[in-house]
Formats: sequence, structure tokens, C-alpha cells
Amino acid sequence: MFVMSNGTQDYSLFWKESLAAIRKEISEQEYLTWFNRLTYETSKPNEIVFSVPSKFIQDQIKQRYLKTISASLQNLAGSDIDISFIIKKTSEKSLPSSETAETAVSRPKQEHFNPLPAPSSTSANSTSKLKIITNNTNPSYSFDSFVVGDNSSFAFNACLAIAKNPGTTYNPCLIYGGVGLGKTHLLQSISNYLAQNNSEIEAHYVTAETFTNEFIESVGDRKTQQFKNKYRKADILLIDDIHFLQGKSSTQEELFHTFNDLYESNRQMVFTCDRPVSELKDLTARLKSRFERGLNVDLQPPDLETRIAILKKKCQQQNYPMKDDVLTYICESINTNVRDLESSLTKLIAYSNLLNKEISLDIVREQLKNAYSLNREQSVAIETIQRVVAEYFNLSYIELRGKKRTRAVSLPRQISMYISRKITDYSTTEIGYEFGGRDHTTVMHACQRIEGLLQSDPGMENIIQKLIRSIHSYKSH
Ligand code: ADP
Ligand code: MG
Repeated sequence: MFVMSNGTQDYSLFWKESLAAIRKEISEQEYLTWFNRLTYETSKPNEIVFSVPSKFIQDQIKQRYLKTISASLQNLAGSDIDISFIIKKTSEKSLPSSETAETAVSRPKQEHFNPLPAPSSTSANSTSKLKIITNNTNPSYSFDSFVVGDNSSFAFNACLAIAKNPGTTYNPCLIYGGVGLGKTHLLQSISNYLAQNNSEIEAHYVTAETFTNEFIESVGDRKTQQFKNKYRKADILLIDDIHFLQGKSSTQEELFHTFNDLYESNRQMVFTCDRPVSELKDLTARLKSRFERGLNVDLQPPDLETRIAILKKKCQQQNYPMKDDVLTYICESINTNVRDLESSLTKLIAYSNLLNKEISLDIVREQLKNAYSLNREQSVAIETIQRVVAEYFNLSYIELRGKKRTRAVSLPRQISMYISRKITDYSTTEIGYEFGGRDHTTVMHACQRIEGLLQSDPGMENIIQKLIRSIHSYKSH
């Protein structure tokens, strides 16, 4: 055991050993991203002190590796060792140069380094103990890495404006849209932007699920005041996926008061939701009205051009060049959302690495057939439904998708929407999009109307059944 001149044990060797063990357990990319920025500083009685270049990195390391680090140190020392950080600007410490040199050689071809925000300038030498987790965001979610298309420019610009001037123009703001369209990415970009550019203001990002769980726990532990303080002192509160709050009445009540508190003191709030607030069920009217109070922005699925731009960017980030015809083919096949697009790319790259072959059009066709398009290929395209229904009612396909609202067009259109909802997996957002960019509410309303007619008009059931049969046989032509 090493003892320093003041009698304290020196934990630096334990740390060296821990670091070597951790390195074996995590990917090289993770190791270089986080542990290259963590430097052993000193030992105190039962405490080890590290330095990091910014609070952001400190929080990320705490959140990701606290348990691993402390278990590993405890294992070697045979007792608990407290861990604390000091924040030192990068200029005050130099990165170990041998590590950097090694990185250049060992980095695999398509490894991508997450862009990390610059160290904050005002937080030098503040000490804080581990245990408090504040910001909980993915550092690669930034405005820079978000590809803006017509579908997302409004939401993107609103979030950017909020990050630049929180609490002023769009407060509160709510972004809604289907799964995998970039809601979380945009929300966390606000937080990451602030961490990068303005260390005075800190955003608190939380999912509605975590918010709910923490609230329930605080009630159980009789620590509701602590919970209230935590959220009511946030400069900016970002709550992801508020549809999760449906039916959770006491959490809604708590959020209602938090909302009022923050709103009255002009503090920014941004929420995301998978549907428009009006479609949320089991949510108190007063909370609904709070969500609807500020700016509500719709995030639509990206069109083909935007999908291509997104995939191109992802390929660049992964340092994986891909031919244009292959890119286009992938984007034509996967039109659901960006998450599906991303995971198809990951799988294709893994597959090509495995075979040691460049991704060709043939590989993509084969792989996408197996992995992705299957569901959608088996299910009916909305276009087929539109064509069959239009033909049945003696309308053109264009008219059916168009803007005209006469009864002769609107009933067939509503029937098409109803059938789309009934026999495909598409969401109301996606269906609305296929009907000339209409809102989800229009689709919901259409479905309700047809359900009503099915109750009152026995002929309607026959028509719908007949249409569904034609749609299925149309598919197999
Ligand atoms: P949501 O929260 O709406 O379900 P996410 O924000 O989790 O969707 O997005 C899913 C994935 O797609 C993430 O990895 C995100 O980075 C990526 N993504 C979504 N939209 C875009 C975009 N416009 N540009 C770049 N990446 C995007
Ligand atoms: Mg999300």
C-alpha cells in the first residue's frame, strides 16, 4: 500500500489497474471518448479525486461509469472509496499523448467519434461528489448532426431558437410526431447546445417515464419536497414523451404545479409527444391546456430526398462511403422513420464487414428483403387502398388524395383512411401524410365517422368488406 506524505493512502496505482480492467470491458471508442478525458488528480482519506475538462463530461462519466469505477476501486482497495471530480479546462491539463498516438493506429475503419461539446469556461475548479446525476443526454444528438428537411424545419428552428434564447419566444413548446422522427434528438440538442455554449444556464432533460418513477419513489420515501425542489429549480425543463403521463393522475398533478412555477418565472419548458395533445387520453384538461398554451410543432416523416440526405450524413459519420444508387435504393425501401433507416445502415455495415465486401445493390436488396421490407411488403401499401377505393367510387386517385372536400370525395377519402388504419400498421400521422399531408386529427376524425356509420348503416359494413377483399386481391395481381 502506498502512503503519501500527509499519511493518506495513494490510490493512483489502484486507479491504473482499474482503468486497465475497464478498458477491457468496454469498446475502444467508449474508452477513448470518456476515459481519455478523465485524469487522476489526487487521493484524500477514502477518496479519489479526478479532473475532467467540463461539467458535461463529468455528468456523462458519472451517469455511464459511476458504478463500474466505484466497484472496480472498491474491489482493489477492499473498502468503499468516494469519488469526486474537479473541473479543469482542457488547457490546464494535457491529454496523455501516448493514448492519442495509439488511437490513430487502432481506430477501426468505420468508427465514429461523437462530437463533444467544448469545455465550459466558467466552471473551473468546482468540486462535486458523484451521486447527483443531472444531465442525461446523448452527446451525439446535436443541431449539427440533425439533417433538416421540409418535414422538420419548423421544429428544428424552434428548438434552435429556444436554445439560443430560452424562456423568451416559444414557451412552452411542444413537439409531436410519430416514433423515430427525431423528437428526442432535437430535445437533447437543446441541452447539449447549452452545455456547449452557455454554462450559466443548465437544461434538465428527463423522460416522462423517469419523471413519473422519481415522483412515485419520492412519495414512497416521503421525499416529495426534494422532488419538487429538483424540478422547480431547473433553468430549462425538457420532458420527453409526455404521452407516458396518460392515466397517471398524481404525476400529472405534480407536473401541473411544476409547470406553473416555471412558467411564472419565465423559465423555458419543452415537451415531446407521439401525437397532438388533443388526442391524449386520461390527461387532465388543465394540464392539456398548459401543454397547448405555447407553440405546438408537428414533426412529419421525411420525404425521399431528406431520407437520402440523412443517410448520406450517417454514412459520413461512420466513415463508410456508399454509392448513390445504393443509398437511393435503401431510402426508397425504408420510408417509415429515421430510426429504421439508421438501424438498416448499421446492419448493412455489419454484414459487409463480416463478408469483407463493399455494400452493393445486390447485398442491399437481399438484406432489406430479409430484414426490413418484409412487414411492409406483406402489408398493403396505402396507395393500393387509395387506388381501389377511388376506382370503386368512380373517382381519380389524385382527387382522393387531394384537397377537395365535397361529400362525393370526402366520404370515400374517409373510408380509405379507415381501411388504412384497420389493415395496415401505419400510424395516423403516417396515414395523414399519405393523404396530401393531412394532420393526424383528420385521420382520427375519419375513423370515428366511419365507425359511427358502421353502427347506423348496415350497408357500410358490406362496402368496407368488399373493398378490403378487392385491396387484397389487387395486391396479388
Ligand atoms: P423519436 O424521439 O422521435 O422517437 P429519435 O430522436 O430517437 O426519435 O430519433 C431516432 C434516431 O434517428 C436517432 O438516432 C436520431 O439521431 C436519428 N434522427 C432522427 N431524425 C434525424 C434527422 N433529421 N437527422 C439526423 N438524424 C436523425
Ligand atoms: Mg424519443
